[in-house]
Amino acid sequence: MRSRGEAVTTPVSPVTAISTSNLTKRYGDVVAVDQLSLRIEPSEIYALLGLNGAGKTTTIRMLLGMARPTGGTVSVLGAPVRLGGHAVWSRVGYLVETPAAYPELTVIENLQVAGRLRGSTRAGAVEEVIAQLGLAPYADHRARTLSLGNAQRLGLAKALIDRPEILILDEPANGLDPAGVAEIRGLLHDLTLEHGVTVVLSSHILTEVARLATRIGILDDGRLVKEIHASDLAAQARPRLGVTVRDPAAATTALQAAGFAPDTNGEGGLVLSDERAVRQPDLIATLLVEAGCPPTRLAVEQDDLETYFLDLVGASPAGAR
Ligand code: ATP
Repeated sequence: MRSRGEAVTTPVSPVTAISTSNLTKRYGDVVAVDQLSLRIEPSEIYALLGLNGAGKTTTIRMLLGMARPTGGTVSVLGAPVRLGGHAVWSRVGYLVETPAAYPELTVIENLQVAGRLRGSTRAGAVEEVIAQLGLAPYADHRARTLSLGNAQRLGLAKALIDRPEILILDEPANGLDPAGVAEIRGLLHDLTLEHGVTVVLSSHILTEVARLATRIGILDDGRLVKEIHASDLAAQARPRLGVTVRDPAAATTALQAAGFAPDTNGEGGLVLSDERAVRQPDLIATLLVEAGCPPTRLAVEQDDLETYFLDLVGASPAGAR
């Protein structure tokens, strides 16, 4: 994936890139988006993460003025978004749901049309996005012959053709293999770091957004249940030592006296997050035996990120609704 290799031409806006306040959308009895308040700063890669039906697409459509909110407000680059309003659209690139292309036109022709529709007359724009998205081998292929992954790349290329300040992408990794996801990550990071672009994307796969985004907002039933920095996600998946003993109080005292900080796991057991305990469970076993509280169970445990996410939205097999 090549960088643009040119200086930033669009000034980075000093204002919040996107903000919503109590944004709500109802379809009859269904509350698709429920009082959503977001604040996304310039150069962030913000991911809306949620299961199918959580309200991601509806939110994105409201950010783009494609769906009318039932309540609340959206502003993009400091300007309120209105249904069908065009004020900020020249500064926003987007890819919503299945990327539509003219099937009988080639990749190049599709991009030329996209550029013209956006009023972009910049020389070299088509070649630039073809190189950015690795589409050169398919430049003369008709859009209908593209694989799902390459169709997605074409959709992204169209979103980028006018060098937007904000990029709003619904499920951008759809149809891409792991190498394709890594390529897109490289592209998005390059756009944010070198060109100050702000990215909002949606996904239903936590491991995918953990790699793509800098911050994640978890949506469940239209509500924002948690926001987390991608760097803090690693802590959620950190290994710990689970210990079961007959007398947790005595074991806690013995462990504390030895400089450990045991926690209870809510089920009568103890949990140790200290790296020393995780690396040397035998040390803990010896210590507990010597304190007269031999462990009946000792195991290094680690949540994977998907379990963490499913627990948060109450959809893990153990906590199924
Ligand atoms: P997915 O990943 O499946 O696209 P999502 O998180 O994008 O899910 P939305 O498509 O925003 O979720 O849908 C949120 C809720 O709103 C769902 O219950 C959906 O059935 C409902 N919904 C969305 N659009 C409409 C519509 N046009 N009319 C009626 N209900 C709708």
